[in-house]
Amino acid sequence: MQAMRARKVDQGAARAMNRRLILDELRREGPLSRTRLAQQTGLSAASITIVSTDLLSEGLLIEHPELAPHLPRHPVPLGINYAGHHAIGMKLLETELQAVLTDLALNVVDQIHVPLRGPTPADAVDAARRASAHLTAPRHAARLIGAGVAMAGLIDTRRGVCIVSHRTDWHDVPFGALLRDALGVPVWIDNDANAFATAERLVGQARQASDFVVVTLGRGVGAALVLGGQVYRGLRGGAGELGHVLTERGGRPCECGLRGCLQAYISNGDLVAQFNEQQGEQTRQVEDLLALLAAGDDRPRAVLADAGRRLGEALANLTDLLDPELILIGGEGVIVGSALLDPMRAALQERHLPDAPPPEIITHRWSDDAWGRGAAGLVAEHFFEGASSHPDRTSEASS
Ligand SMILES: [Zn+2]
Repeated sequence: MQAMRARKVDQGAARAMNRRLILDELRREGPLSRTRLAQQTGLSAASITIVSTDLLSEGLLIEHPELAPHLPRHPVPLGINYAGHHAIGMKLLETELQAVLTDLALNVVDQIHVPLRGPTPADAVDAARRASAHLTAPRHAARLIGAGVAMAGLIDTRRGVCIVSHRTDWHDVPFGALLRDALGVPVWIDNDANAFATAERLVGQARQASDFVVVTLGRGVGAALVLGGQVYRGLRGGAGELGHVLTERGGRPCECGLRGCLQAYISNGDLVAQFNEQQGEQTRQVEDLLALLAAGDDRPRAVLADAGRRLGEALANLTDLLDPELILIGGEGVIVGSALLDPMRAALQERHLPDAPPPEIITHRWSDDAWGRGAAGLVAEHFFEGASSHPDRTSEASS
């Protein structure tokens, strides 16, 4: 009896692992024939047949006969059924909620921006309800599998609680549960940099990398650490607070209450403030600095170069600690471009340990829906992970 139970558990676990192997491989490589899938995963042809038949019948995979003529002896490739499922991704800002509806490849199908009536969690829930009502209209036929939220702050992803967000002044808000009750679908919330990194890991520019760092520039400065293929969150979800590492002892005040944080030198608002302080100007946003540069006025260059150097030094420290293969720079702040990013690269090159080449640096092709796609990535991530263990098989294994 014991032996039989142990064998059932083994079979269930093995099948779950095979499902995950196949889904992971197809996500990274795109559609593959069953033969190629067997070669790539090391699974037997029989296992591939059994598991892929299950995944096809559940609607998680589809066949791609249109790709077959390009392959020798025309086997029909299998691919993930990205279009068959939808996710809602929401980015919570101070004054509005930006929401997108995506498929599982995080292609945006529809989107809406809803202004917030106020700063409270109830206002955010209200905006999310309105966004969801628009995005779940009957014209979108695919099955909605959940909603993800990206927001600034310290998030307990396991409980769905915003522990603290300085920008919204929230403390211990069970936002995940509030939204789940309001929307009637599973909800995942995470720090915005982590959400963005999750999307990049699943379907983006870091799809092939297992150890990489994402840095987001803009209103604030964030980072996500992906180690061994997983976002590293630390004990309380506080990992990756690159914006609050020390760059200047006793330096500029930061929104967190400390002084000399990196963010206080390189956030969009701080770039503008420093320029105004140094030049006696009254520019309002970072675009004004870029307009000056474009008009041949080089005065903003010193502030931007100083910010870039500080960021590069922080990334050199991070590189020496983590040895990532890739650093991906994203966020609205990437519009500042080479005036900040060239000095950043130079500082990273100069300051990091000379024994190894520095990691590859990629600047993200940023678009306004990138945060929302990241939030939808939280849903896709759980879908892929959950899909690796079929519910029937799990109950069979534990019976
Ligand atoms: Zn700070």
